[in-house]
Amino acid sequence: MSHNNDAEELLRLVKEGTSPFHVTAWVERQLKKEGFVRLFMEQDWGLDNGGKYYVVHNGSSLIAFTVGEHLQFGDSFRIAAAHTDFPGLRVKPSPEITKDGYQELNVEVYGGAILNTWLDRPLSAAGRVVLRSDSIFEPKVHLVDFRKPFLTIPNLAIHINRDVNKGVELNKQTDMLPVLGITEEESGEEFFRKCLARELQAEPEDILEYELGLYNTDQGAFLGLSEEFISSPRLDNLTSVQAVTRGLISGKRDRGFQVAAFFDHEEIGSRTKQGAGSVLLSAVLERILLSYGRGREKFFETFSKSMLLSVDVGHALHPNKADKNDLTNKDILGKGICIKEASGQAYATDSVAVAVIQQMCEAEGIPYQKFVNRSDGTSGSTLGSIASAFLPVKTVDLGVPLLAMHSSRELMGTADQERLVRALTAFYSL
Ligand code: ZN
Repeated sequence: MSHNNDAEELLRLVKEGTSPFHVTAWVERQLKKEGFVRLFMEQDWGLDNGGKYYVVHNGSSLIAFTVGEHLQFGDSFRIAAAHTDFPGLRVKPSPEITKDGYQELNVEVYGGAILNTWLDRPLSAAGRVVLRSDSIFEPKVHLVDFRKPFLTIPNLAIHINRDVNKGVELNKQTDMLPVLGITEEESGEEFFRKCLARELQAEPEDILEYELGLYNTDQGAFLGLSEEFISSPRLDNLTSVQAVTRGLISGKRDRGFQVAAFFDHEEIGSRTKQGAGSVLLSAVLERILLSYGRGREKFFETFSKSMLLSVDVGHALHPNKADKNDLTNKDILGKGICIKEASGQAYATDSVAVAVIQQMCEAEGIPYQKFVNRSDGTSGSTLGSIASAFLPVKTVDLGVPLLAMHSSRELMGTADQERLVRALTAFYSL
């Protein structure tokens, strides 16, 4: 199988998208190349028919939109949303630990990581650092990515831990501390602050605060006899970020507003100021109409005809654990995008909205599968149901099927990426 451009672009995004801030910066770079113009919430917007725009919110969320060339009032919003964050480890303030000749970092677990997959990996750190400035309310913000692996969390040898293959519980505070150095010092040295300052070419005392995550520096790889799999860190949810970005750029709809929303904090529940459970998206949509001189009534008219795709990975059937799957709905890697449904609305889906997507996929020749949980199990939720509570429009949850979700390395079908991009392109074109 030849790798298509979308799968190749996904792997580049995995390499560059090492924190929610870096994922957002990647999206911004793609949009800028295509002539999208950045808008600021604190300035007036002058929008034009046929225009392409985006807003960045708090560095890790971004909303982009295009205005139809032949815009008519009464046209709708077509919205697709994906998340920029992923489970992992976050560095705490004052993180330096010196113990028995080793230097370690104090970290906390972010989101629902499979902890044992983080052991024995080459780890690096990336995120946002805030430095002292001359203006109290405007500290300086820098993105940082060390790129080079410099930390690891070593496993305990089987000889010392004879039950390791029966499954071992890892304590989130004491078992997940990465080691990054050997020292003669007793304690008290701010070795991480100094290393961060060197990386930023700043003075250690000017570092006020940061949001830094550890990430697996492994690169993505094509696997399988015919390269039918992609094995890579951060597939949840960079597959969707790539597809929504590329779909918006390629979309051809000349009516209405095509909107792509990228939210942080999905892995911790979305109910934050930069999450899908904020008024951010509905505020931006209302602002679009206000800048066209239309009021709240027109806004409600427009959004009542609108549609939302919540784009996120789904669970594929595991060949060694098929009994974990639903009895009659089986998602297989590489067999098409998956539409996720749950009567409990963990996935925000209704039958009319699903029918729209089925008709769209059939018109475009895009294979799709349906996912539902076993009735005696649950498998998490997405930002769809949360976003659609704020924006009560027709909503579908869809994405590529995945194995090993929330492992530090996940597995998907190579062919599904290009199908997801085609689905998003069709959504923004038809
Ligand atoms: Zn996800």
